[in-house]
Amino acid sequence: MIGIIGAGPAGITAAETLRSYSDSHITIFSSESHPPYNPVLLTTHLKTGGDKVFWKGKDILERLNVDARLGEKVERLDVKNRRIITEKGDYVFDRLVIASGSRLYAPLKGLHLPNVYNFKSLTQVQNLRSQIKERKKAVVVGGGFQGTEIALALCEMGLEVTLIEATDRIMPDRLDKKTSRFIEEVLESKGAELAFNSFGVEFVGDGVCRAVITKDGDEFAGDIFIAATGMTPNIDFCKKELEISKGIIVNEYMETSQNGIYACGDVCETRNRITGEREIFANYWNAVRQGRIAALNLLGHRIPYDGSDVMNSLKKLGFHFIVAGDVSGEYEEVEKRGNYWRFYIKDGRLIGYIIVGDISNAGLFYKLMLSGEDVSRFRPLHQLKDSDFVFRTIQQ
Ligand SMILES: Cc1cc2nc3c(=O)[nH]c(=O)nc-3n(C[C@H](O)[C@H](O)[C@H](O)COP(=O)(O)OP(=O)(O)OC[C@H]3O[C@@H](n4cnc5c(N)ncnc54)[C@H](O)[C@@H]3O)c2cc1C
Repeated sequence: MIGIIGAGPAGITAAETLRSYSDSHITIFSSESHPPYNPVLLTTHLKTGGDKVFWKGKDILERLNVDARLGEKVERLDVKNRRIITEKGDYVFDRLVIASGSRLYAPLKGLHLPNVYNFKSLTQVQNLRSQIKERKKAVVVGGGFQGTEIALALCEMGLEVTLIEATDRIMPDRLDKKTSRFIEEVLESKGAELAFNSFGVEFVGDGVCRAVITKDGDEFAGDIFIAATGMTPNIDFCKKELEISKGIIVNEYMETSQNGIYACGDVCETRNRITGEREIFANYWNAVRQGRIAALNLLGHRIPYDGSDVMNSLKKLGFHFIVAGDVSGEYEEVEKRGNYWRFYIKDGRLIGYIIVGDISNAGLFYKLMLSGEDVSRFRPLHQLKDSDFVFRTIQQ
């Protein structure tokens, strides 16, 4: 039997790839009882409901003819005896793909209170959706990519929103204050209150949460609370069996430290295509590419994974906002007719960029960044945003 642990984007891509090339018996385990869904669509699902969140169709597992063990959490992996132990049974596997993704990381007390939610499961979002009509004031803790997107969605739904962030800006590991301001202005125009330099430590209340308390003793009251403070990989069931740093360590073929056991998606660490550093990349397209490569190699191919990208594209702003690659160090910038571009350069290479607004040349920036070619002849790099300029330069 080929086992797959996790039915998110990485696990489903692995299942699709395996089924395209093999008739083997495939068993897929998911701790969630829903059909496979796409977490990228959860903020939209909060607003609209419906079935679009099941992005492959609710019947994907039947169509793939896999043995679907939904609502069956894997408790332990026994590598020596090739066994998967779940809450309900014991299964012998031949080869395995671990795609168990990530869960909320929130070092705050009071997470158990019933009106404190997170966006790391469809059940949580459905519960929030069922309550939201009776609620008026939401407090989102965490101004990273997901917390910001959630705050924007809640504003769109007519709630009063406070966004609490420990640093002085939005997406602090990717933006400086100048680029954060583009997002802050949108949040403010939608009526959101932004509480920077506020480190949430506890959700407080008797029976239900009534406020978040910060390290400095400030209180932010509300009737709905969202924890969006980060993620941590789901490795509890396998951490004694596999080589692990923060996430599961894989080689260039997505194979773990154990023969025939592969890992992909948010649960594993891969190489950054730009910096070469090993990290966890919580990004849909990386998860999908890794799921495919893991499955192909499990089937006996030898196809190396070419590395992951750090890429954030913030939705719900009303304009495009893309942050890609390594956004540290020297940069060039230009602002024109409400659009903004910033290019990060190191040793003559384009290593990262930020686009606010016009994304017409985004594909070109991406290719130049990945190619690693010397872009000195295009400097000043902001000319890259003009397609004519690039065309003329390449012709020369
Ligand atoms: C609100 C939100 C918005 C996002 N927006 C974007 C975006 O705009 N663009 C983007 O690129 N990325 C976005 N992401 C990130 C993206 O969704 C993830 O990178 C992607 O889902 C990772 O896929 P995965 O299959 O590795 O993990 P997951 O999607 O986390 O799936 C893992 C699955 O495994 C199950 N599982 C875990 N442990 C076990 C176990 N022990 N036994 C059985 N099953 C288990 C989990 O229940 C889950 O269903 C967003 C994420 C969230 C939460």
